[in-house]
Amino acid sequence: MNGAEVFVDSVSKSFDNGRVVALRDVSLRLDPGEFVSLVGPSGCGKSTLLNLIGALDRPDSGSITVAGERLQHLGDPSQYRALIVGFVFQFHNLIPTLSSSENVQLPMIGQGSSSAVRERKAQELLGEVGLSHRARAAPTTLSGGERQRVAVARALANGPRLLLADEPTGALDSETSDQIIALFESVCVSHGTTILIVTNDDRVAERTVRQLRMRDGRLLVDPAVEAQRITDAAS
Ligand code: ADP
Repeated sequence: MNGAEVFVDSVSKSFDNGRVVALRDVSLRLDPGEFVSLVGPSGCGKSTLLNLIGALDRPDSGSITVAGERLQHLGDPSQYRALIVGFVFQFHNLIPTLSSSENVQLPMIGQGSSSAVRERKAQELLGEVGLSHRARAAPTTLSGGERQRVAVARALANGPRLLLADEPTGALDSETSDQIIALFESVCVSHGTTILIVTNDDRVAERTVRQLRMRDGRLLVDPAVEAQRITDAAS
């Protein structure tokens, strides 16, 4: 199984010298290949948690382990971010001066593959997201849904074991949003990737196998249940 197991153990995080508490003692576990959503009102800490799991930021206390790697012990978080995790954001963040194919190839640069191999892989990934025919197109000529598809293909460039998506459908109409979620479902099934999606949209959350709910920096799942899941996995 390709998917990463994720453990978040008693993680807290605050900003502005402790004045803003974003996460309070959050613990959770994701099984390899699980398709999970993280929901809750704006400002409750969802993006902060996603960023910590993606090693874009560090917790004040507690620990996070992904695919057996304790994130605070990583020598080089950029390698973890490049090889283990794929990110999809609300706004696709594609480089407007590069084609779809070149955008998908970007994360592969510096990972040792030749340009021919990168190009072939990008073509394969664009095929997977239904955009083979737009490989040479500039992002500005694509629809919102197509751009987000390219962003998903780019996130898959290095075969991540964990996909983290922050409001990936937040800027899309409901039909396009359904197509993007269907794409995540298919990635989860075909690659076995563990997927965690932050969303404010109940329709998106309903499509995931499990919903994690947050409020005021806390995870609302029964802490005992989550603690048991963690203990079971450790034994
Ligand atoms: P959500 O994703 O649920 O909308 P966030 O994780 O973005 O919530 O934010 C949680 C809280 O932490 C909010 O009060 C937000 O203002 C604060 N916060 C997030 N990032 C920062 C930051 N870099 N600096 C200061 N405060 C932040």
